[in-house]
Amino acid sequence: SRKPIFAANWKMNKGALETEDFIKSFLSKTQGLNLPADIVIAPSFVSLPKLADLLHNSNPGKNAHAIQIAAQNCSEFDSGAYTGEVSVLMLREFFVHYVILGHSERRSIFGETDAAINAKIKKAREANLKPIFCIGETLAEREAGKLESVLRTQVTEGLKDISEKDLSDIVIAYEPVWAIGTGVTASSEQAQDAHAFVRSVIADLYGSEPAAKIRIQYGGSVKPGNAAELMACPDIDGALIGGAALDPQSFLEIIKNGT
Ligand code: 13P
Repeated sequence: SRKPIFAANWKMNKGALETEDFIKSFLSKTQGLNLPADIVIAPSFVSLPKLADLLHNSNPGKNAHAIQIAAQNCSEFDSGAYTGEVSVLMLREFFVHYVILGHSERRSIFGETDAAINAKIKKAREANLKPIFCIGETLAEREAGKLESVLRTQVTEGLKDISEKDLSDIVIAYEPVWAIGTGVTASSEQAQDAHAFVRSVIADLYGSEPAAKIRIQYGGSVKPGNAAELMACPDIDGALIGGAALDPQSFLEIIKNGT
């Protein structure tokens, strides 16, 4: 009964022109289709106005509103002297409904801590944005037998002081770092085990009902060819897709094969 959610994380790809090309192509391919999933696109900040215009302002046709917009990050602050940052209220002006937080690239390259991610999740919820909260272990952590302790810490610290009500608007994305952009996907068994474990941590923190309701996406080298097997796992509720979501046909095939 959990509706699957497929989100394209474009990372630092596609300016406004390429965004327009993608959306026109994707909308023409999905014309008349009824895809039983939430479909989300996370472009770069500078492409948000174009995406908002294409999906909401310029009379784009019926299936355009089926696509929801995500940001790839947000500030933990409201406004002020924070050079280079983007606030949640700025995002709201462009029909942004989701925000990816805690991506492993934000953690490892830009030094985001569990505490900073927790602050961003809280700020996002204040503006009624839905966090796509990313967690995942490195290969070294997995090989050292630390998979469960790493995931438990990330989930517990990231969701510190988040209410059960706010949890119901959060999506978790399990992205093993060793599978991101490497072409190496977690086996469906590895992914299912990690997802079931994350759900059990949510049950420990919030009880069994919120745990049964929360959607947990898988991310890491998802492609049209492996989507069906991954999405068939009982605790996998969609995908967060990088490279394979840069192409409209490939993103659509992942959604079709995974639903
Ligand atoms: P890839 O699909 O390119 O492996 O990226 C996954 C990811 O990091 C999505 O957030």
